[in-house]
Amino acid sequence: MVIAVYPGSFDPATFGHLDVIRRASYSFDKVIVGVLNNSAKSPLFSAEERVNILREETADIPNVYIKSFTGMTVNFARENHAKVIVRGLRAVTDFEYELQMAQTNRVLAPDIDTVFMTTSLEYAYLSSTIMKEVALFGGDISRFAPPATLRAVKEKLACKQK
Ligand code: ADP
Repeated sequence: MVIAVYPGSFDPATFGHLDVIRRASYSFDKVIVGVLNNSAKSPLFSAEERVNILREETADIPNVYIKSFTGMTVNFARENHAKVIVRGLRAVTDFEYELQMAQTNRVLAPDIDTVFMTTSLEYAYLSSTIMKEVALFGGDISRFAPPATLRAVKEKLACKQK
């Protein structure tokens, strides 16, 4: 049984993330999505909110589980008996950081490998940051993320405007 973890901020999840999760679910027996609970990054959504959004959006994929974690990804992988860390690659701009991260994790945990999934072309431009910016300026984000994300963003912006 090959277990993979897919760590990230997911603040909040986009179609790009969901595409990686779904494709990883075909290649691995179990995919555990790790929502990084890192207050230093000052996310728009709490870890609990990000977990709930992802749970709703992956409810139809039986071998996908959503958890939050703090600290190092390699420890999260070990705690979940995962041998693989999945990350997504959109463009060369992602590459340098991702390579450095993968190599660091390899030094820390030689028994765990990082596997990169290249983005589907239709989501190559998409990031949570860009999506939030569009939403903040009142733009339509319905082509960027599934309904649970859209609802959560709408509620969060309404709260912020009060
Ligand atoms: P982090 O802060 O860890 O980069 P993100 O939530 O931004 O967290 O991204 C988590 C992972 O998903 C990263 O590996 C990132 O490259 C990947 N990712 C984000 N957006 C996309 C996308 N549109 N297509 C493919 N992978 C993506």
